[in-house]
Amino acid sequence: MFFKCKNCGGNTVYAPDKKRMYCPHCESTDSEEKIEDNSLVQCANCGAPLQMSEYTSACRCGHCGMYLIFDERVSGSYEPHMILPFRVSREQAAAHLESEFSNRLFAPSDFMSAKSLEKMEGIYVPFWLYDYDVNYDFAGEGTRIRTWRSGDTEYTETSYYEVIRKMNADFERVPADASFVMEDGIMDLMEPYNYQELTGFVPKYMSGFLGERYNQPAEELAVRAAGKVKEASENLLQSSIAGYTTMRTYHKNLNLQKKDTCYVLMPVWQYVYRYRDKTYLYHVNGQTGKVVGATPVSKEKVIAYGVSVFAMVTAICGLAVHVLEIL
Ligand SMILES: [Zn+2]
Ligand SMILES: [Zn+2]
Repeated sequence: MFFKCKNCGGNTVYAPDKKRMYCPHCESTDSEEKIEDNSLVQCANCGAPLQMSEYTSACRCGHCGMYLIFDERVSGSYEPHMILPFRVSREQAAAHLESEFSNRLFAPSDFMSAKSLEKMEGIYVPFWLYDYDVNYDFAGEGTRIRTWRSGDTEYTETSYYEVIRKMNADFERVPADASFVMEDGIMDLMEPYNYQELTGFVPKYMSGFLGERYNQPAEELAVRAAGKVKEASENLLQSSIAGYTTMRTYHKNLNLQKKDTCYVLMPVWQYVYRYRDKTYLYHVNGQTGKVVGATPVSKEKVIAYGVSVFAMVTAICGLAVHVLEIL
């Protein structure tokens, strides 16, 4: 399907800043008409052949530019339970990237050009959200050591404590992305999302964006969510038994029980920047504007800044391979 403007025939898309359907061509709102044609082979608008993977649920026709949504990949068992609509528009996402990177000494000069940023696409990434109920029993022996001096003698006093913790915690909506092409580490850095804004799924939220159906079923990814829950539970336990000089564990038993699972689509802006045969990926959380990416290094620009700056280059090169997390 696609959404066509009744007024001018253009592509009506969901405008994050207006929180409604909008035609960028004639600027009318609520003028959309749903055209049902769900061919996976050719564009429903112009007939051009489509390039897509088995997971694509929404794409942009490379010929006419129409954003198409594929009914069979957003319905039935692939129908998302919820969707987190884009709140950050293309312009706002570009502004977030720009404020983060344009004043960095080593960003190549065309990094933020309008032409480069045109290639930025909003993607609805499939996620599973898991609810877990956690019981954590811990028993151990902690010590606290006090030393003091009296005259020539140093005294040490060791106090022993029996430490028992029975912890019960509910973890709600622990996310794991269900897309092969989206790197897990980067998707984890996109967190946190504000789940209060999750809303019932309707296809028109996808108009103007790319999308995927889940690549893997919930059972397959539960282990990733469980890993996050275990780590968070361990941190909770550790902070509750902090303050002892030593801690000897008698027993600990962490029990995870998976409760609900929810299939949702989450908004992510992706900007692919090619520089010197290398591809740099930038991501902006489509809800919060959080930016994840690494600064590309431009040699020309470094040289233009002269010798005094040059000493810094090695350090920055080293950094460039890491993913910077920026709030
Ligand atoms: Zn229009
Ligand atoms: Zn087309």
